Amino acid sequence: MRGFFIGRFQPYHTGHHEVLEEILKEVDELIIGIGSAQESHSIENPFTAGERILMISRALDEINTDKKIYIIPLEDIYRNSLWVSHVRSMVPPFDVVYSNNPLVTRLFGEGGFAVRRTELRNRRVYQGTEIRRRILEEKDWEELVPEVVMKTIIEVGGIQRLKDISGSDV
Ligand code: ATP
Ligand code: MG
Repeated sequence: MRGFFIGRFQPYHTGHHEVLEEILKEVDELIIGIGSAQESHSIENPFTAGERILMISRALDEINTDKKIYIIPLEDIYRNSLWVSHVRSMVPPFDVVYSNNPLVTRLFGEGGFAVRRTELRNRRVYQGTEIRRRILEEKDWEELVPEVVMKTIIEVGGIQRLKDISGSDV
């Protein structure tokens, strides 16, 4: 049984990590879709698809599994009614979709897929929006992501990038 999980992972955080650990107990193989792959260098989407691949694959290296995991960037097509077909055209076949996102579950449900909800982990702080806000405001964020993700964000200059792009030319 092959599962599919999608997120923007801006950045990949401990909430994602704990959910994936659970999913990996249920599936034989897992596909991780990186949504809005074309986006980067914005406050909502600071990291490139490639940087997000690094974060995820380094974090997954620390999970003890020999299951096959595919990490696949997926660009937006701006047409929700065609999006499931778009995803299916870009990734290996899958049997079950894991998500909590209402639009994602709706679209895959309409597409005839089995959808399983995942349990939200400490959602107040394990949240991309909260982590980006903390980085910008120079508040503690490092504890909200796996250590290898923290190192990756620093390595790619992510902190200064966020500060730079939130600036103004006025
Ligand atoms: P943002 O605030 O930027 O939207 P996010 O934390 O929601 O970031 P996404 O990449 O949008 O992260 O989420 C991908 C998937 O992970 C979604 O299905 C989302 O519901 C799930 N998810 C996000 N945070 C958690 C969490 N703390 N616990 C469980 N699932 C989570
Ligand atoms: Mg989200």
